[in-house]
Amino acid sequence: MLGEGVFWTNFTLECVLQMKIEDWIALGLFVFFFLIMIYWYERTSSKKRKAKCASFDAVAMNKTNTDKLFQADSTYYSYTTHKPFYMRLFSPQGVWSPYCKTCRKWVQIYSPMLGIPVTQNALSELQESDIVKSLFNLDWSVLKTSERLPTWTIIQPAIRISLGRCKTCDGPFCVLSEIRGQTDREIIQGKRLFSIEIDKKSALELLETAIDRNLTANNSMYARAVSFCKDLGSSKDFAQVALAHQRKEKAQALGRRGLWEHDYGILDEAEIHLNNALKIFEELGERKDQALAYRSLASVYYRGKNLDHAETQVKKSLGLFEELNDKPEMAICYGFLGQIQFDYKEFDRAELLVRKALEIETSLGNNRGMAKGYHALGAVYKALDKRERAKDAYTEALRLYKELGDLSLEKAMQTELDRL
Ligand SMILES: [Zn+2]
Repeated sequence: MLGEGVFWTNFTLECVLQMKIEDWIALGLFVFFFLIMIYWYERTSSKKRKAKCASFDAVAMNKTNTDKLFQADSTYYSYTTHKPFYMRLFSPQGVWSPYCKTCRKWVQIYSPMLGIPVTQNALSELQESDIVKSLFNLDWSVLKTSERLPTWTIIQPAIRISLGRCKTCDGPFCVLSEIRGQTDREIIQGKRLFSIEIDKKSALELLETAIDRNLTANNSMYARAVSFCKDLGSSKDFAQVALAHQRKEKAQALGRRGLWEHDYGILDEAEIHLNNALKIFEELGERKDQALAYRSLASVYYRGKNLDHAETQVKKSLGLFEELNDKPEMAICYGFLGQIQFDYKEFDRAELLVRKALEIETSLGNNRGMAKGYHALGAVYKALDKRERAKDAYTEALRLYKELGDLSLEKAMQTELDRL
């Protein structure tokens, strides 16, 4: 068998060596016609495709993703034109990219420039979620309360925004938005949400807000965002903004130190560092960080058995979270206030507060929060000597902990139920 193989190789090699000029021409012509045929096939099939699709825009946008998608606005950039045929040969679905109609050029879309943290809900609601609707309608104010993503890994649910602009004309910006993150069931690597075109004024507003909130992916994207802003005639003092970011990072480091000291019971130090962090957050007007610092301080006082002080701080925290309409954090504050009332042995008040927390967690569909709520409610009923109600609450908490796969808390609930 081996001999045969060698024979064939030698045979074809000899043939090639002995080929005359006419043979070469014939081979060349054959290859040429073959390429023409491929080109012709591609052209006609793409024409057929075009004819078949009533709304080519919609198809273009739905090519990579069959889920519902916002349609492109292509007054200037066309998102419908596809890459040349040789690129599509290797990609049956086609490669879709914005295209400047004026300059007849493909527009480069840079890798994600901005990252916006979102809740788990946004991962399932996608285009139906409030934040995506706002962004699609160019309402960038939703970014004003956004925080910088702690990491850019997939686990962190986030919307990522990429920007592109024609390099040869003074055109608007094209914006691509995708979502990624991990849910209980799946990992979403990057689901396209929308592709739109935004005018220069709106782009400036978006970029300035993103720079203020430090939402850029990295230093080079930050620099690119600043240079876009300068091109668009921004009058912002970017040095001042960078300084504010530094101060915020310093305050966050102080806050983390305070929390660490709290965990180790070094309460005096924790109080000092959290208060220092709080002062900086106040100066910078960072309300969410302020609210978190108040609650951390409350934990420090609570651990030091100073319930009065703890209560005051949680109330301050709750007030700010209410202003920000931050439901998950509000639920935590209500739970904390309930715990304080429980310690005061004001069980009726504790019940009301825990119920409030539970109500919010239920509306958010947060299973862990709900489990904690029922757990606390069980304890309150037990203290009030309402055994049946306590049993119901603990049973519900047990079910939820089981669903979450939290073995130790599942065991704790079982023990509570056995004791009733
Ligand atoms: Zn152009």
